[in-house]
Amino acid sequence: MNQKAPKPPLLHTEMLIDGEFVAGEGQVEEILNPATGQTIAGVGEASPEQIERAVAAAHEAFDPWSEATPAARAGMLLALADAIEANAEEFARIESMNCGKPYVRALEDEIPAIVDCYRFFAGAARCMHGAAANEYLPDHTSMIRRDPVGVVASIAPWNYPLMMAAWKLAPALAAGNTVVIKPSEQTPLTTLRLARIMAEIFPRGVVNVVCGRGESVGQPLVEHPRVRMVSMTGDVATGHKILQAAARTLMRTHLELGGKAPVIVFDDADLAEVVEGIKVFGYYNAGQDCTAACRVYASDKVYERFVADLSGAVAAIRVGGQDDAETECGPLITERQRSRVASFVERAASAGHMQITAGGKVRSGAGFFYQPTVIAGALQDDEIVRREVFGPVVSVTRVSDTEQAIAWANDSDYGLASSVWTKDIGKALRVAKKLQYGCTWINTHFMLANEMPHGGMKSSGYGKDMSMYALEDYTAVRHVMAKL
Ligand code: NAD
Repeated sequence: MNQKAPKPPLLHTEMLIDGEFVAGEGQVEEILNPATGQTIAGVGEASPEQIERAVAAAHEAFDPWSEATPAARAGMLLALADAIEANAEEFARIESMNCGKPYVRALEDEIPAIVDCYRFFAGAARCMHGAAANEYLPDHTSMIRRDPVGVVASIAPWNYPLMMAAWKLAPALAAGNTVVIKPSEQTPLTTLRLARIMAEIFPRGVVNVVCGRGESVGQPLVEHPRVRMVSMTGDVATGHKILQAAARTLMRTHLELGGKAPVIVFDDADLAEVVEGIKVFGYYNAGQDCTAACRVYASDKVYERFVADLSGAVAAIRVGGQDDAETECGPLITERQRSRVASFVERAASAGHMQITAGGKVRSGAGFFYQPTVIAGALQDDEIVRREVFGPVVSVTRVSDTEQAIAWANDSDYGLASSVWTKDIGKALRVAKKLQYGCTWINTHFMLANEMPHGGMKSSGYGKDMSMYALEDYTAVRHVMAKL
């Protein structure tokens, strides 16, 4: 069923610096609708003076904000959650226009999780745990404090812009830090809309939004001497650059990088459930997800049937624009990203031993669509098994036993997410214990809860988002000792 395209929402293009809305004075970035390829807005990037003003405003705002009671900070985070909820349709509309994702998915999946994230951290701000105060030396009382670190530079990727803003802003602000956030240059629109609401709720300077590219805005922000912590979600290569900058200032870093999630399918798994799971969790957001179920290891006994069933299911995934209520897979973010995905598939096809059993082609016409694709017969050393594609492409590799499945799953630079599919819960837990990933799901994939941490190991980084662990990441542990 096709829905009539709704009236486009008003798009805000001004940044928020020291409580004021200002147009970026630098180069104007064209913001595209990936489903049509058309320009929907132009956003000027922050000039060096504007970056300076944003950091100075966050620095000025830090003392009073860090002294506000947890209850006061929580009240503002709850007000922000309520305002996002009240404007859910508008936020979902802007997000889907800017990212190409189906409107219904943005509205029904993403916005409730975003609202819940602010509500979780509003509560968490008031419930920080720690060691009990004690006299570890006679006549001296020691206590542990967890205090905010100062100005946080938050740098977000393009795949879930409003959710990544929530994952970064909510714990940082709850802990008493002030923030300068830079959304991706490709997808700034929901963060700019959020800025309008945040300016009404938070004291001036507590949150600042600056726009622009990584080299011209992200890098100077990260290198600014008054920035005490950088939180970045993005590519591994960008993580390296942040760490090089951090090596000079020794600032705290919080990195959430790429992924290449292994999915281990044992022969006693419910194959219909696995196929349905991978159809959803491998292709959600057009596979542009760091936890996407993209690297399957299927047990020898079920391999043939699994490949046939998965390929049939994936060929039936409905690809389309944001406003079609039946769209399951939208476009990729840019033409560049689509060509990158296409070239991975072309190289796999030309290797000779792999079969493209579903998709494998660019969808003709407007927009940056690529057919949901399955690549069977992939071997452990193939590029498609080792490198992050960040598109609607799932590889399937045959494994002969549990030990081989674990060894190959762990044989990766990445360590973000993984899943195990079997009816034997004992086996699932034994395998889960051995997987070197920040998260292992059993008989599901991709499900997140704000109470639970999300973050990686190895090259996927080490920062934790969501949960009390994120609140800890955005605070410094301090020892206060009094001589009695
Ligand atoms: P990217 O690294 O290109 O960009 C991320 C952000 O960093 C953008 O805002 C960009 O402008 C900025 N940036 C780029 N160079 C910079 C520099 N030198 N200094 C400071 N900032 C700089 O990543 P992307 O293409 O936007 O996102 C895709 C990547 O993000 C994928 O690798 C994906 O796996 C990863 N990702 C990870 C998670 C996670 O939770 N681990 C979540 C979403 C996306």
